[in-house]
Amino acid sequence: MLQESIISRAIIERYFEKLKGCLQVDVAIAGAGPSGLVAAAELASAGFKVLVLEKKLSLGGGIWGGGMLFNEIVVDNGGKAILEDSGVSCHSYNPTLFTADAVETASALVFRARKSGAVILNTVEVEDVVLRHGRLAGFVINWSPVTLAGLHVDPLAIEARVCLEATGHPLEVLKVLLRKNDIILSTATGGIMGERSMTADSAEQLVVENTGCVFPGLYVSGMAANAAHGSPRMGPVFGGMLQSGRKAADLIRKELEASNGQNH
Ligand SMILES: Cc1cc2nc3c(=O)[nH]c(=O)nc-3n(C[C@H](O)[C@H](O)[C@H](O)COP(=O)(O)OP(=O)(O)OC[C@H]3O[C@@H](n4cnc5c(N)ncnc54)[C@H](O)[C@@H]3O)c2cc1C
Repeated sequence: MLQESIISRAIIERYFEKLKGCLQVDVAIAGAGPSGLVAAAELASAGFKVLVLEKKLSLGGGIWGGGMLFNEIVVDNGGKAILEDSGVSCHSYNPTLFTADAVETASALVFRARKSGAVILNTVEVEDVVLRHGRLAGFVINWSPVTLAGLHVDPLAIEARVCLEATGHPLEVLKVLLRKNDIILSTATGGIMGERSMTADSAEQLVVENTGCVFPGLYVSGMAANAAHGSPRMGPVFGGMLQSGRKAADLIRKELEASNGQNH
């Protein structure tokens, strides 16, 4: 017999087992857009303990709406290879560009990240950071409905060996880090340089170049990387975002492996 209280108990027990299991992780990722999801899948596949925090109910960031709600996306050859690794069908548009269905892309990237072993908590917002000895040591988190309702509720915190900001245009983590602390970022000015107007071709290259560590313990990927380093937006072309996620995963994996080596 289906008993209501047992259904509730199953959800509560399983959720809190999941939550307790990710209070200390190798990598915490703020934002589940294309770059954050690719980074999560690749780091979890490499055996690291990965937590993804997404403030919205649904994951996928800006993928779903394609361009202006026309739900198709455009990628280059590099992006196509990453999409095909996730099982997405890409269709040749011209010799160098491919299109993919936005709904298929978003759902496949979410599915791959989860099946690779990343734990995903949706409706959880990163509202601040944990700083320890001049290094980012984790994220301060709260339910996004708490923020939406304007409730005065204290957050909780999770610890991570490395954090990745993949929050897209808003760059919420770096903004709070700079606002509350007297620190200098690894950007040309030492601060947040701000996103520039659309220039698709250079933005696609720069988003990969800009992906990297901006403060001890904190990496940026995707639009957050371009916003941090003063580079342009690129609109609904996603190859650079996907490659940025792959590059972030690669850099973080190298840092974690080097620190594992030092601890042995
Ligand atoms: C609502 C929205 C509107 C966009 N509009 C445009 C546009 O007009 N023009 C354009 O060129 N690009 C736009 N983009 C971005 C565009 O789609 C990008 O090309 C691409 O999606 C960026 O990928 P990304 O990996 O940087 O992250 P995004 O796709 O931007 O996803 C970032 C994710 O991080 C989440 N997030 C943000 N802050 C927090 C936080 N504090 N804690 C937890 N999660 C957080 C967001 O909810 C989102 O799901 C938009 C993206 C979004 C989400």
